[in-house]
Amino acid sequence: MPGCGAPGEYRAPKSRFQLAEYWWFCLDHVRGYNAAWDFYKGMSPGEIEAQLRADTAWQRPSWPLGHVGARLDDAVAGDPLHILNAAGFQGRRGGRVGAEVPAEMREPLATLGLGWPVTMDEVKTRYKELAKRHHPDANNGDRAAEERLKTINLAYAALRTRLAEPRAAAG
Ligand SMILES: [Zn+2]
Repeated sequence: MPGCGAPGEYRAPKSRFQLAEYWWFCLDHVRGYNAAWDFYKGMSPGEIEAQLRADTAWQRPSWPLGHVGARLDDAVAGDPLHILNAAGFQGRRGGRVGAEVPAEMREPLATLGLGWPVTMDEVKTRYKELAKRHHPDANNGDRAAEERLKTINLAYAALRTRLAEPRAAAG
């Protein structure tokens, strides 16, 4: 990272198209880099699924691939960066989300599987996708889906409130 004098001992893929090419950072900067990087940015749910199925780099998937959908959401939302570990990413030692993410945003962002920073439009788009997929009507009245939808609704409400505040108060 320009201006940083700490040794670059931690690597992170340059992009999802360059998973074998790395930037090297100090611990603090690799955490910030990871927190800001939404691996699935711009991809539809179908594309994400295809990516997971097709990419032979996933030698150690940490979730069942037979039934994507809800489980994929849980996996992605629970720990987006775990996916990088599966792809051979190294250098992350327990830090779930970078320090620059406002503390009260971490849980809602993780629930919606979003990175930081994020725009209201991105939040709305992701919320609509998830709300549609987890709606009980789309899951034969499944109670678990209903619970997930409640959690998603709460996360959306929290993000919407926070993002509506003036930018000056966000720091
Ligand atoms: Zn650094």
